[in-house]
Amino acid sequence: MSSRAALDVFDRRESEVRGYIRSFPTVFDRATGSTLVDADGREYLDFFAGAGVLNYGHNNPVFTGALIEYLERDGIIHGLDMATSAKKAFIEAFERLVLAPRGLDHKLQFTGPTGANAVEAALKVARQATGRSTVVAFTNAFHGLSLGSLAATGNSHYRGAAGVGLDDVARLPYDGYLGADIDTLDLLEKMLDDPGSGLDLPAAVIVEAVQGEGGINVASAAWLQRLREITAARGILLILDEIQAGVGRTGAFFGFEDAGIVPDVVTVSKSISGSGLPMSLVLLRPDVDVWKPGQHTGTFRGNNLAFVSARVALETYWADSAFTDAIAAKSELLRIELERIAADHPDEGFVVRGRGLMYGLACDSDRTLAGRISAEAFRRGLVIETSGAFDEVLKFLPALTISEEELDRGLAIVRDSLDVVLAAG
Ligand SMILES: *Cc1c(COP(=O)(O)O)cnc(C)c1O
Repeated sequence: MSSRAALDVFDRRESEVRGYIRSFPTVFDRATGSTLVDADGREYLDFFAGAGVLNYGHNNPVFTGALIEYLERDGIIHGLDMATSAKKAFIEAFERLVLAPRGLDHKLQFTGPTGANAVEAALKVARQATGRSTVVAFTNAFHGLSLGSLAATGNSHYRGAAGVGLDDVARLPYDGYLGADIDTLDLLEKMLDDPGSGLDLPAAVIVEAVQGEGGINVASAAWLQRLREITAARGILLILDEIQAGVGRTGAFFGFEDAGIVPDVVTVSKSISGSGLPMSLVLLRPDVDVWKPGQHTGTFRGNNLAFVSARVALETYWADSAFTDAIAAKSELLRIELERIAADHPDEGFVVRGRGLMYGLACDSDRTLAGRISAEAFRRGLVIETSGAFDEVLKFLPALTISEEELDRGLAIVRDSLDVVLAAG
């Protein structure tokens, strides 16, 4: 049976809401590292990494071993927010390997295991801590699809599904939205200080250091620093949504790290467990941690298997700089090749942008091009997604553990796919 025929049951029984299955129409069966294998045994190179969940690759043996061992000794699987040895070991590792080296004194809140739930918690606690309701979010932001997080998300395709008002969020232009020469924070600052602007003093500003779903838009270090200054001076909390840009994706553990800023609140999810098991965290500066016991609860806050692999990920990859050095080298390869592709196709007017192993090849002159390259690449054995408001950006999000050979091989497929798509007209 071909994989296409094997998709029948999904067409017949799975809701119309299904998404990625349409871009990558096959039945996946197993995976290791950066290779996915479908039920027919066909291999695909993975430049998608579960939308940033699989920064350490699929079924990384470092995690698999630890998880199997934990299962075999009957370690606690589900713990609500009770203390467990797996959770204790994770918190200690996070304190030692992430917080302490960066001089961060944040407390850890474990939320329900989706990114959206972490964002909900961040927005709630910011509103509660300040007693204010407005939150500033940026153009092309993606913060999740539950109502509070959706209100902060920009994309009208997602917003249109809400069916109720998405209130208390003010939208301002992200870095670069009005072109390279305009500092969009001039507008925020002016509006905050002008009682006629119509912008109420916000509880918080929520921002991604690099916008993933919104089209791989990169905030400059200077812009993030100025945003930190503007918010700090006015008692506005700064929330960094690190759900996609965090955990090494931009080349450092946090996407905001290179800017040298300290956010009041940080949301982390996607790759934090390392193994792909669901897990979410909110980091809170102690003075923002105004929660009352059990005030933001959730049944699945204690996914202890996730805590086990999350701890192993920190111990394996974040104890020294070897991992980030390797990401930097691969980032350079990726950037150079994307710039070469752009230079070789001047008519398409490609724009290359990104940091670390989070890159976009944007084509505004033909917004269907990225989608057509993605489809052709899939036929040639590469899984690569698009992003941006018009899906006009081909999104390079390989595992951070990908080999240089795999990176080259995937890039060659992208090049070939582009040639085929352009030749087809
Ligand atoms: C994926 C993502 C979310 C939402 O996470 P879910 O687990 O899908 O709810 C929020 N913010 C950013 C930046 C994301 O990339």
